[in-house]
Amino acid sequence: MRFVVPPHVVSTALVSALALIGVEAASAQEFAGRDKLFAHSNEFRRDVIQVTDGVYVAVGFALANVILVEGDDGLLIIDTTEGMGAAREVRAEFDRISTKPVRAIIYTHSHPDHVRGSRAFVGDVEPEVYAHEKQLRENLPTAVGRAGRDGGNQFGLALPAESRPNAGIGPSLVLGGGDGYMRPTRTFSGESYSFEVAGVKVVLGYAPGETDDQLFVWLPEKRTLLPGDNFYRAFPNLYAIRGVPLRRVDHWLESLSDMIALEPEYLVPSHTRPIMGRAAVDAALTGYHAGVSSVLQQTLAGMNRGLRPDELVEQVTLPPELADNPYLQEFYGTVAWSVRSIYTFHLGWFDGNATSLFPLSNRDRAARIIRLSGGEAAVLEAGRAALAAGNFQWAAELADYVLAGDNDHAEGRELKASALAELGERQISANARNYYLSMAQALRQGR
Ligand SMILES: [Zn+2]
Repeated sequence: MRFVVPPHVVSTALVSALALIGVEAASAQEFAGRDKLFAHSNEFRRDVIQVTDGVYVAVGFALANVILVEGDDGLLIIDTTEGMGAAREVRAEFDRISTKPVRAIIYTHSHPDHVRGSRAFVGDVEPEVYAHEKQLRENLPTAVGRAGRDGGNQFGLALPAESRPNAGIGPSLVLGGGDGYMRPTRTFSGESYSFEVAGVKVVLGYAPGETDDQLFVWLPEKRTLLPGDNFYRAFPNLYAIRGVPLRRVDHWLESLSDMIALEPEYLVPSHTRPIMGRAAVDAALTGYHAGVSSVLQQTLAGMNRGLRPDELVEQVTLPPELADNPYLQEFYGTVAWSVRSIYTFHLGWFDGNATSLFPLSNRDRAARIIRLSGGEAAVLEAGRAALAAGNFQWAAELADYVLAGDNDHAEGRELKASALAELGERQISANARNYYLSMAQALRQGR
């Protein structure tokens, strides 16, 4: 029987200690991803960082950062977090830097973690709110944190806090304090829009990628680039398992190229810490572009050879020179999900195998597999053996056969919950970890 290390226990030293005392602990290597994810929490220690003259960023207060630019007679705020509670805390910190009135709020895109804290930054002067005009057409999601998808949740909001070290791109989703969203008052529809506020020259560049309404903020006099969510210190979420329309990877790459061409000296993403220095910024952005481009090109080449999604996932990996790149670690998005998403974008849901055109229903297939295997008890026994042998994915799939016919089957639910918990503890991606552990918890709670 494998030993499940409790989620809050992360030290490899403890894993070794358990091995010494005779518990059959899984090797430290197996938990290397989790250890890296826990260590990644350091990225989100609370800080207000001065990036360059007049540019500051608040990191670690919410899932997303807030960026402050100080001008002659006023302030600019870029992105406002997902809730008024966190935004007020950031405002209090910014007040120690300057109490000039906020004259402009800029949204890099419409996601709730960038727009819901706006009211916290408004005083007597009503600021202009800038965004790309597509933002007004995007559905403003109001249901972030929804339980959805059978209890699976990429933010892990239903999990105990010690089970979720961080959210991959921020400490966690911080929804408290209510919604202070302010609707954009100034939008642009072209490729870029230049203006001046409080003596600060600002260029907004249309940059579709993570969303279709994404923009970057370029401060030419300060050589400072704010890339929104098209860059952060984690492999990008080219597909989000919370359920989103497919994201255009080719557009994302074009937007990265546009940003590289600006030759910024400072890079202040809306998640994770800023990068300072021309060489460091260029290395970060070009490495990011190379990583995403490699995954796209490998996937397309494999598709042209007739490979199907499952085969592509086995073959496409980051090349050795990029595998250790600190900005491409899979703390948030993963290469495998990206490959499936790219396939679906180009070829749709059908994998090309005629058998897949009108497949059996899960319920029908499961009943036949169970009969073939000698009955439900035999399938459960095989599942428990798989769990004990460390074949967690197979254990979960066997449990699914049992649950397909009876979703309330107690032993089936426990087998699946155990398998998902083991899988969750082996992930480097916060999204994957949270999803596995949330669903395991929901199964055990009878949901
Ligand atoms: Zn975001």
